[in-house]
Amino acid sequence: MTGAAERRQHILDLIAKSAGIARRDPADVELIAVSKTRLGEAIEALISAGQRSFGESRVQDALAKWPALRSRYPDILLHCIGRLQSNKAAEAVALFDAIHSLDRASLLDALVKEADKARRFPAVYIQVNIGEEEQKGGCPIGEVGALAAAVRASPLPLAGLMAIPPLGVEPAPYFALLNKLARRHDVTGLSMGMSADYEAAVMLGATAVRVGTSLFED
Ligand SMILES: *Cc1c(COP(=O)(O)O)cnc(C)c1O
Repeated sequence: MTGAAERRQHILDLIAKSAGIARRDPADVELIAVSKTRLGEAIEALISAGQRSFGESRVQDALAKWPALRSRYPDILLHCIGRLQSNKAAEAVALFDAIHSLDRASLLDALVKEADKARRFPAVYIQVNIGEEEQKGGCPIGEVGALAAAVRASPLPLAGLMAIPPLGVEPAPYFALLNKLARRHDVTGLSMGMSADYEAAVMLGATAVRVGTSLFED
């Protein structure tokens, strides 16, 4: 059995190796620990190992864990990586430093309204439905430009694009496509890559990888 610190170091080593192959600086890749259903003890082991960026997919899960942890570790950065309902915008703005799942103008409007009220302005990634899948969340590829323009006209910083490639197929072409879309729309951040494919994502330009299973489980 290995511990959280060893697992984290192993992942950081592979990120550095992948970045090296692509002639990128590993410091340009943020490792986001996806803590979802994980409990306090497992999370604290990672914090002790130096991990500071964490991702949650549900506002309720995040609210149950993070206010207490954050009061003890004020330099934690919290990322919202899951589908967000507009009626959770106030809680999301209060809690998260970055939101990776902006996929529609109505959600942007709700976030801006709450951000203005709270005077807190989380950065947003536009989630792209990169595989053009029927039931999958994300902004259609053809609407990324309009949504990016709307974010740029808002007080929320535009961090970049995010995507989850279709399951069960080679993800690299989708990472390459997201990279191309980011360049086309002049955005720099690329949130892509999970436990199974973060090395490929880093080689193809990821600036944030969202890793859960490989960090928390042997
Ligand atoms: C759960 C989740 C992850 C992490 O997935 P693992 O395979 O456990 O690394 C990353 N991104 C999103 C959007 C997720 O929901």
